Amino acid sequence: MEVDLPKVPLEAGLGPENPPCPACGEPLFPWLELPGGKGLARRCEACGLGVLAETGDSGMALTDFDLGRTDDGLIAFDNRASFQASLTGAGWAGLETERSYRFTPEAVARLVAFRDQKVVGRKLAFGRSLIGMWQSAINTFTFGHNVALGTLGDTPSVEADRAWKRALDWFITVVLAVPVFILALPLEALATLVGRAGCYRVELEVL
Ligand SMILES: [Zn+2]
Repeated sequence: MEVDLPKVPLEAGLGPENPPCPACGEPLFPWLELPGGKGLARRCEACGLGVLAETGDSGMALTDFDLGRTDDGLIAFDNRASFQASLTGAGWAGLETERSYRFTPEAVARLVAFRDQKVVGRKLAFGRSLIGMWQSAINTFTFGHNVALGTLGDTPSVEADRAWKRALDWFITVVLAVPVFILALPLEALATLVGRAGCYRVELEVL
């Protein structure tokens, strides 16, 4: 359902530094510095879309979104409106990606409407959400970013620039692995209860 925006429109902030959001047209504002000095990420304060690189139009954002399609036809996305993203900021594990956009349920609904689709189902990806919460929390203690997931799987990561920092990152990861997991489990369960889990898979239907 469309929501009426305030009478003082956010569009007033549009400009070269604040390009329009490809999902809803409101200006993108600076969000945070990406890990590894990869530049400034922006976010939309209306629909929550995160933009990690130069932004494009809705077609480019949809192409990026479609990269999350899984074998069963659903499309997975890491939720920028999740507890883990809000709690850990620049530590959020979902920040480290080769892709340009980070989605929210609201941004997804607006984007797929451009091609006359709507979200008809949403499934929780709890395992991936929990791992994301765990790695995001660990990231707040380490020099590098996604140290464990980058080594164990195909998740992009940023290593620290010095050998001693990389060694310390592994020490921190090993020491904190279990206590952080014990903390991450109820936190992600709570996030799930209030609809702010780390990862969802959505089913789309043509209108
Ligand atoms: Zn937006």
